[in-house]
Amino acid sequence: MWEEDNDDEDPCGCPFCGNFGCEHLLISIDETFRSADGGPLAEAFNTHWGNLTEAGGDDFDEHEPWLDLVSQCEDYGCRDSYYRDSGPMTATNTIDLYCASKEEVSRSIKKLNNLWIEMS
Ligand SMILES: [Zn+2]
Repeated sequence: MWEEDNDDEDPCGCPFCGNFGCEHLLISIDETFRSADGGPLAEAFNTHWGNLTEAGGDDFDEHEPWLDLVSQCEDYGCRDSYYRDSGPMTATNTIDLYCASKEEVSRSIKKLNNLWIEMS
């Protein structure tokens, strides 16, 4: 019985329509594993982060650049952070960023892509 109530148990969804994985989603960032695992910006984000860590070499201190990168994305989206239950003993901190409209999602992706191209 209670399994069917899972949707009600979710701490939050899209702040604009209440759903998950809707057209407002810009990116889903997994803070624990430092990678993006959802949303239309995910590929560009992971590529840029890969470039940064590669350029940084073996002694690369990921902490600051990671926070910078996340805040660059946050500048363009509405933040919603929650722990996604990925197993009995693990809690993954995931940041979901949403935009108010599909158009805004496209605009944000373009701006961030330009920013990241300039930086690389
Ligand atoms: Zn939505």
